[in-house]
Amino acid sequence: MRKNLVVAIDGYSSCGKSTLAKALAKKLGFIYIDSGAMYRAVTLYIIRNHIDINNHKAIIDALHHIELNFHARDYESHITLNGEEVSEEIRQMPVSEKVSDVSAIKEVRTEMVRQQQRMGKSKNIVMDGRDIGTAVFEDAQVKFFMTADPKIRAERRFKELQSKGDHHTSLEDVFENLAHRDYADTTRKESPLIRAEDAIILDNTDITPDEQLEFALNKVRPHLPQQL
Ligand code: C5P
Repeated sequence: MRKNLVVAIDGYSSCGKSTLAKALAKKLGFIYIDSGAMYRAVTLYIIRNHIDINNHKAIIDALHHIELNFHARDYESHITLNGEEVSEEIRQMPVSEKVSDVSAIKEVRTEMVRQQQRMGKSKNIVMDGRDIGTAVFEDAQVKFFMTADPKIRAERRFKELQSKGDHHTSLEDVFENLAHRDYADTTRKESPLIRAEDAIILDNTDITPDEQLEFALNKVRPHLPQQL
């Protein structure tokens, strides 16, 4: 049995996984790892190097030229791609539009999962994504499966993009992108997004971030060596 504590958070696109993961990590003093940022950074590399998204061989070859690192600052997860901080750029629409195609490639997943498992080998972590409780850490002590009304999710992501200066992407664009990614992520052959049998469902359509944190903390507390 693993000695370190792993909290796995999976769920649909833009349903607040990272908000919960960051808040939990901060409260518990755990390390937060945003696994989606890794697939996004690989996708950014593919776009920047004009690699055809259908050319799987070229994408797999590119993995040899990609080095990803996380730097935790204020419980925000900052990712570097070959030494360059790309945390902002990977959130933009060009990456969102292609990331589900890249993440469906078996070899890409194998490499990302290998790196994720290494990061969660000995430290207490909160990791969010699509396959954390089903593939990366099947033995995670606490698993959440998050969901929320698709319209609410699109509105939240739209506001986030606007606050970051993206005034070109419409609410409809965001809604369609989320629907596309949910479909691609749940129907792909390799580790599709599904709820692990032992995952706790958390629908945050009608609850506040504070309420969802309290809910999640109550589920994690019994697993802590000392009650926090
Ligand atoms: O979590 P985020 O929305 O940033 O993830 C972007 C995309 O990365 C997802 O839509 C999915 O295609 C992929 N992903 C994945 N497995 C993970 C995390 C993300 O396939 N563990």
